[in-house]
Amino acid sequence: AKEQGRSSYHFFDHEMEQSMNDKMQLENGIRRALENKQFFLVYQPKVCPNTGATIGFEALVRWEHHEIGLIPPARFIPLAEASGMILDIDMWVFREACRQSKKWQERGFPLLPVAINLSAKHFDQRNLVENIVDILRDTRIDPHLVVIEITESVFIRQMESVIEMLSELQALGIEISIDDFGTGYSSLSQLQRLPVSIVKLDRTFIKDAEHDERKSAVVRAVIELAHSMGLRVVAEGIETEEERTFFAGLHCDELQGYYFSKPLRSEQFERYIRSEMRS
Ligand code: C2E
Ligand code: CA
Ligand code: CA
Ligand code: CA
Repeated sequence: AKEQGRSSYHFFDHEMEQSMNDKMQLENGIRRALENKQFFLVYQPKVCPNTGATIGFEALVRWEHHEIGLIPPARFIPLAEASGMILDIDMWVFREACRQSKKWQERGFPLLPVAINLSAKHFDQRNLVENIVDILRDTRIDPHLVVIEITESVFIRQMESVIEMLSELQALGIEISIDDFGTGYSSLSQLQRLPVSIVKLDRTFIKDAEHDERKSAVVRAVIELAHSMGLRVVAEGIETEEERTFFAGLHCDELQGYYFSKPLRSEQFERYIRSEMRS
């Protein structure tokens, strides 16, 4: 038994070593990717439910690996969160999204808020607000045109410090949005404790809601309650005409999804906005 204990200990040790190696490889990979400019951003419009006009957009990260090709965020974001590299990625994304937005504004584009995703991991460390203040100053972007999207997983963290950090960001003029709402830990009543002004309904709420009476009752109640709390509601993952009509009818404030546009590279997004400006 003792012998077995020792060998399984060794096995465990080896596995640990292996995963340490994987982790270090990924860390190195991400660090190199940041240095070699393998990350880039795509931009997805958020539209007015009635007119379809663009009223904002979300920046989403992409990784173009030299050998592997395009790696979707679903593949590397969870690993980057586990290794802590997400902190560097998100700060790169934040800076790049603000830089690009400011450039578009200076070229006479309409003043559209840019939404940027932040991992809940940032709320475990102290210098998030400081880093963001630096980026706002360097890029000279108006903080009132910046939205931060965070998921409900911030609710399993040290709430006092989360509230403090979000309040500081809000005081700068930044709006806070709760992403993937309804998939996780929080309830609308919990949101009242946070300086949040927007909730984004996850696609799981959107899909088939027109045909599913239970789902549509829940969705209707959530939207009404959110509105009664003074929150704006974004429905994301709108893919069809029916979904658009349904969620516009439920008085969502903004819609986002493939029905209007997929996330676009900067040149394509520019063309999308220009064609809107002409019409
Ligand atoms: P998310 O923040 O919930 O972003 C929405 C995702 O849904 C995006 O996937 C978007 O391309 C996709 N989407 C948009 N419209 C539709 C639609 O009509 N139907 C369907 N089925 N999907 C739609 P993407 O770009 O692959 O990103 C996946 C997730 O990766 C994001 O989910 C977010 O959690 C994370 N992510 C992306 N960029 C960043 C980033 O810069 N920082 C962090 N921390 N996370 C990021
Ligand atoms: Ca998001
Ligand atoms: Ca989402
Ligand atoms: Ca998500």
